[in-house]
Amino acid sequence: MVDDLYQEIILDHSKHPRNCHFMGDANRHAEGFNPLCGDKLKLYLRVEGGIVKDVSFEGSGCAISTASASLMTESLKGKTKEEAMKLLDNFHDLLTTDSPVSQELGKLVVFCGVKDYPARVKCATLAWHTLKSALNNTGEPVSTE
Ligand code: ZN
Repeated sequence: MVDDLYQEIILDHSKHPRNCHFMGDANRHAEGFNPLCGDKLKLYLRVEGGIVKDVSFEGSGCAISTASASLMTESLKGKTKEEAMKLLDNFHDLLTTDSPVSQELGKLVVFCGVKDYPARVKCATLAWHTLKSALNNTGEPVSTE
């Protein structure tokens, strides 16, 4: 039953992604690409005083990558850079390890089922890898390969 609910949330976010638009006043941005699946993503951030004030994305990809980007943007607003990186670590653990699920993940826990499909892990983490690049401001295009 819980799995069905998670599936529904992922489907909803893939069909109606939140914060999916260009951001004119972004002061950080990065691009990500997952060649394994063909997912492409542009991420925009407005960071002020070390806090993520606004975040949005544009892209084309599979349901998992789109839903992950959408849920990520919802989770990031108001977080400090350190909190965002911690969330990234927790999310990565959720998808790749059997360690206990962090409460901080909130809604992001819906992706726990992706762990059973290793090929889709890169779809789910693309937005997060791109986030890391944007926060560190490397400006390098991100590839999951
Ligand atoms: Zn994908």
